[in-house]
Amino acid sequence: MSGSSELFARAQRVTPGGVHSPVRSFGSVGGKPVFVDHAAAAELVDIDGNRYIDFCMAFGPLILGHRNEEVAAAVSDAIARGWSYGAAEAISLELAELIIGRLPWVEQIRFVNSGTEAVMSCLRLARAATGRNKILKFAGCYHGHTDSMLIKAGSGLAGQAVADSAGVPASAAADTLIAKLDDEGSVDCVFDVHGASIAAAIIEPVPANYGLLPQRPEFLRHVAASCRKHGALLIFDEVITGFRLGFGGYTERCGLAPDLVTYGKIIGGGFPVGAFAGKRELMEQVAPVGPVYQAGTLSANPISMTAGLATLRQLADGTVYAELAALGEILEAGIRSIAGVRQQRTESMFWLLPGAADDHGLARSPAQIPVSIAEQYPRIFHHLLGAGVYLPPSPYEVGFLSAAHSESDIGALVDALASAVANQ
Ligand code: PMP
Repeated sequence: MSGSSELFARAQRVTPGGVHSPVRSFGSVGGKPVFVDHAAAAELVDIDGNRYIDFCMAFGPLILGHRNEEVAAAVSDAIARGWSYGAAEAISLELAELIIGRLPWVEQIRFVNSGTEAVMSCLRLARAATGRNKILKFAGCYHGHTDSMLIKAGSGLAGQAVADSAGVPASAAADTLIAKLDDEGSVDCVFDVHGASIAAAIIEPVPANYGLLPQRPEFLRHVAASCRKHGALLIFDEVITGFRLGFGGYTERCGLAPDLVTYGKIIGGGFPVGAFAGKRELMEQVAPVGPVYQAGTLSANPISMTAGLATLRQLADGTVYAELAALGEILEAGIRSIAGVRQQRTESMFWLLPGAADDHGLARSPAQIPVSIAEQYPRIFHHLLGAGVYLPPSPYEVGFLSAAHSESDIGALVDALASAVANQ
C-alpha cells in the first residue's frame, strides 16, 4: 500500500472524505488523492517520492510557482517579527498602496481571509448602498460558498432559484436571481421583471469555475449597461483573474468600470487571503466609517500581506505576464497538434476538453460543454498523473501556468497528453 493510500485511509476517519476542500478528494476523476510532501518551482513531490510537474498550482495563487525565493525570504523575515497582531501594521498599507497606485478603479480596499468572505462582504455592501435585496448571478459562475451564492437556475429564467447545497435556507435562495452566460436575452428577462429590486449583478468576467468559458465583450458590456440602466451595482469577481490576466486583471482590459471588485488567490501569494475594493464613496460605507459591518481576527495578517506584496512586486513590471503569454502559446500550439482533445485558454489559464479545435466554436456557457468530458477527462488525468504531470483533479477546474514552468515542462504535458489520447 502506498504512503498516500495509507494517509487517505486515516484522513477519511477524521475529516469528511479525507480532505478539507471537496475537489482535493479526486471525487470527479476517481481513484485516491496523492498526498503532497513538498513542492518547489513547478514540481510537486508526494509522500511516496513521486514527482509531478504541477499544472494545478494550488488552483491559481502560485503565479510565480512554489516557494518562489523572494516570497520565501520575505515571509521568513516577517515570521521572525511576528505573525498576527490584531492591530494596525504597515505591511497591509504597503500592499494597499501598491494596488491603489496601479488600479484606478480601486480607491480603497479591505483585506479579508478568503474569496468567499470577500464576496459575502461585497454583497452586503451592495445591498446597503442600494437599499435593495436581490442579487443577479450567472449559472456556472462560482463565487465561494456563502449561502446566497450556492444557487443555480430554476426552470424559469426569472423564476425561483434552487440551492445547489443542502442547508441553504429558501429565504437565502429567494433573493438570488439567475441569468445565463453568453445570453443577453436572459439578462433582459431578469432585469425586466426584477430590475427595481436588484442590488447588484455579480459575474466572473472570465468564468473559470465551470471549465473556462470566455465571454464575448459585448455580452459583458450588456450586463454592465443593464446594471446602470436599472440602478444596480456591477461586481466583478476577479478572485482567479485578478493579477493573473495582467496586473489589473480583466477589469484593466475591458474598460467597463465595475463598482466593486473581489480579489483573492494571487493577492496573498499563496497564503489565506481575499479582498474587496472600489471607489472611496462606496467603500467608506464599510465599518468603522460606515454602517456595513465587516471584521476579521486574522484579516490582513502580516504573513499573507507580506507574501502578497512580494508576489505583486515581481508582477508589477509586466515581464512575468509576457513570459506566461509565450508559454501559453507554446502550449496552445502543442495541443493543436493532438487530435481528439482541444483547449480553451485565456493567457495563463487553460482548460482541456474533448473534440478537435476546428470543429467547435468556443464553449461560452455550461450548456455548450460536451458531456463526454466527464468520461474523457478522468482517463486523461490518470494517464498524465502516471507520467508525472499533475492536472487539476476535476474536468471543470482550469489549469494554471506559472513563471516557474519551462518550455520543457509544457513539452512534457503535451507529450503525455498525446500519449493519453492515443491510448484511449
Ligand atoms: N470567487 C471565485 C471566482 C473563485 O474562483 C473562488 C475560489 N475558487 C472564490 C470566489 C472563493 O474563494 P475562496 O476559495 O478563497 O473562498
